[in-house]
Amino acid sequence: SLPLENKRVLVTAAGQGIGRASALAFARAGADVVATDINADALNSLSGETNIETRLLDVLKDEAVASVIAEAGPFDVLFNCAGFVHSGSVLDMADKDLDFAFDLNVRAMVRTIRAVLPSMLERGGGAIINMASVASSIKGVPNRCAYSVTKAAVIGLTKSVAADYVSQGIRCNAICPGTVESPSLQDRMKAQGDYEAARAAFIARQPMGRLGTPEEIADLAVHLATATYTTGQAYAIDGGWTI
Ligand code: NAD
Repeated sequence: SLPLENKRVLVTAAGQGIGRASALAFARAGADVVATDINADALNSLSGETNIETRLLDVLKDEAVASVIAEAGPFDVLFNCAGFVHSGSVLDMADKDLDFAFDLNVRAMVRTIRAVLPSMLERGGGAIINMASVASSIKGVPNRCAYSVTKAAVIGLTKSVAADYVSQGIRCNAICPGTVESPSLQDRMKAQGDYEAARAAFIARQPMGRLGTPEEIADLAVHLATATYTTGQAYAIDGGWTI
């Protein structure tokens, strides 16, 4: 039998990049996947995939999060993948950017966790996986202040949830990627003007000499959904960036 058979998995930001690859990987592992995103066109690219049901969900909205989880749950696994990358140092960072980064990168995870936890506790278990980054409390990365502040908070949230519920069957871990080939990374490279130079610079910071793939990160998400003796950890998956 498959490792996630009879498990219900909720993925946020599943329309593209790591979230999309993870929805597909969870489904291949036998799970019933509810793939959510704010972008209907991106979500449509998953329609017709075996074991995947798609739902529009803006994780910035409390009521939408609560109602989608009430209707489509209960869930055994929650993968909080939604996040946004701001560029800039502490002096470049506008308050509104920091507020937005906190709302999307951190508070959205608080929202979904609050909505799934009660039924996980009732049913005696669950796995929560939060998307952080090595750009966080793990590594200082230039020009990523708002991003790194919020991704460090994701690691704190992860450890806090893990500590509070470890005796009640709940596991909570964070994934901390290096640089991963995704649509938003493409946008960031294009936005820098010289695409080839930007790409070369991203690759240069990865000691393995290449970018990661969404599928490689998805494999770790599936592993953490089934890794029954691990909780509260921040897993770097970064092509050797933090060796
Ligand atoms: P991406 O940035 O290309 O796609 C993000 C997805 O999030 C999009 O489908 C978008 O529609 C969705 N989204 C945006 N706002 C939303 C909202 N309010 N509600 C629901 N969905 C929303 O994908 P990616 O680069 O694979 O990034 C996914 C996660 O991985 C993010 O949390 C990111 O910070 C993290 N991460 C990415 C990298 C990388 O190099 N790509 C590295 C480390 C961490």
